[in-house]
Amino acid sequence: MNPFGYSRAADANDAVAIISAKRNGKFLGGGTNLIDLMKMGVETPNELIDINRLPLAQIEELPNNGVRIGALARNSDVAEHELIKSRYPLLVEALLSGASPQLRNMATVGGNLLQRTRCYYFYDPAFAACNKRKPGSGCGALEGYNRIHAILGQSNECIATHPSDMCVALAALDAIVRVRGPGGEREIPFADFHRLPGDTPQQDTNLAPGELIIAVDLPPTPFAARSHYLKVRDRASYAFALISVAAALDLGPGKNIRDIRIALGGVAHKPWRAHAAEKRLTGRQVDENAFREAAEAELASAKSYKYNSFKIELAKRSIVQALTVVTSL
Ligand code: SF4
Repeated sequence: MNPFGYSRAADANDAVAIISAKRNGKFLGGGTNLIDLMKMGVETPNELIDINRLPLAQIEELPNNGVRIGALARNSDVAEHELIKSRYPLLVEALLSGASPQLRNMATVGGNLLQRTRCYYFYDPAFAACNKRKPGSGCGALEGYNRIHAILGQSNECIATHPSDMCVALAALDAIVRVRGPGGEREIPFADFHRLPGDTPQQDTNLAPGELIIAVDLPPTPFAARSHYLKVRDRASYAFALISVAAALDLGPGKNIRDIRIALGGVAHKPWRAHAAEKRLTGRQVDENAFREAAEAELASAKSYKYNSFKIELAKRSIVQALTVVTSL
């Protein structure tokens, strides 16, 4: 591990001021991804700014009946909170399917958003070619072992997938990320927070330099009664999703789909909102053939590699399965 400095921020403004003055500083929350990457020599910050004592762990109701989750709320605490359980069971399911209980006890909401999009080549500096770790070096996964890699939205620079389960649910719920930076506070719609790789795969998010996530806002939704997070993975726990689906529905009379949200995990460099599938199903009656048509539409532009072609059909079947579950609740 490279040598680095350590500071403890007194408040959010102090945290922003310290990181803005450093060449290559990183905020330290739960550290569940960052410290791993530092041990591997993948992340080499010159300063860690400890934000754990900032008062950013609260979960509170908003005047519009939405909920604000502080950036330092631990994943376990979010999953156990009554406001989240009663209004956003989709988020609870996603959180509890991620990582392990020990990691969920440490990992923060802000850190979950900031965990690196990655693959095994990124994690191992013994592999020279990784544009995300070393821009311009190539992508070892393109011609390598790419079983877990992206099928949507990728570029020839990077085909890694975003690892978070929580973020797939937040994408479906149209969450808002609240950040504070040198210029004050701003809100980032969740869909605009993470990036597709394009020709800058080293940048996972649209956070500006010096910005600190302070909270995630969940707007009110009509989906509490009908939602499901389906995660397909190689083993039953402590594994990233091969494919995941966050699905939520609001049904009207005659089982007509009034409103629908679908987001996919394990398919792209960011949580993938399935707008094409949603468009196909809005206003339609619940019907398995319609679910399959919607899944086909969403995956129409999918592209696979030597070892991951199975993910295209798996994604379609997972969409149908998740929608079948939510419509039978
Ligand atoms: Fe690196 Fe992305 Fe290629 Fe993986 S897929 S080797 S993270 S550039």
